[in-house]
Amino acid sequence: WSHPAGDPLNVVAVECAGPPLPLLPGLPDDAFEHDGQITKRDLRASALARLAPAAGELLWDVGAGAGSVGIEWSRAHPANRAIAIERNPERVARIQRNADRLGVPELRVVTGTAPDDLPDLPVPDAVFLGGGLAALGACLDALRPGGRLVAHAVTLESEQALVAAYQRYGGELVRVAVEHAAPLGGFTGWTPARTVTQWSFLK
Ligand code: SAH
Repeated sequence: WSHPAGDPLNVVAVECAGPPLPLLPGLPDDAFEHDGQITKRDLRASALARLAPAAGELLWDVGAGAGSVGIEWSRAHPANRAIAIERNPERVARIQRNADRLGVPELRVVTGTAPDDLPDLPVPDAVFLGGGLAALGACLDALRPGGRLVAHAVTLESEQALVAAYQRYGGELVRVAVEHAAPLGGFTGWTPARTVTQWSFLK
């Protein structure tokens, strides 16, 4: 099957085997072009559940990597808007390719470093921090009242920032460990992914 770009159903605009990609997160990781720096499917679905997109809202996807979170936010409703902020130019180009291919070419991609390059952007209804945790304070400030923030950490240093934020502001602190069944010496074993600490907060 195939759909033209700009399809009002907002479905993926490329030829694919199988049924159209669903509008609900999370898409399989391989639906995105990525270099390994991508918020994996189960964590992405968990983050988007808490980011709670409503029609017409704006997300900042800070440290956007492959752009998966901003893209899934945008696919949830045709009126949704997202700005991906990424400092690595190669990844910036990849984010745009992914957005085009997955039917949300209007996703805005900003090459920049958080928090330095955030101030000029329009006020967000939600913020996802997948990298650049140093921008946590600036993002909390920028968020509108009633807005949602979700931050992921895999290092002790960034986790410390999330623990401090949890102690200061409350919200929800969750550790998510995902394991996939994979071949193990002729048998099948659980292969753990890196455990992620997730802080989410309603302002
Ligand atoms: N959520 C992304 C994965 C993020 S990986 C996805 O699903 O694809 C973290 C990314 O943050 C990396 O691409 C890294 O280049 C970027 N990053 C780290 N610190 C940053 C900062 N201060 N400003 C902008 N981008 C940053």
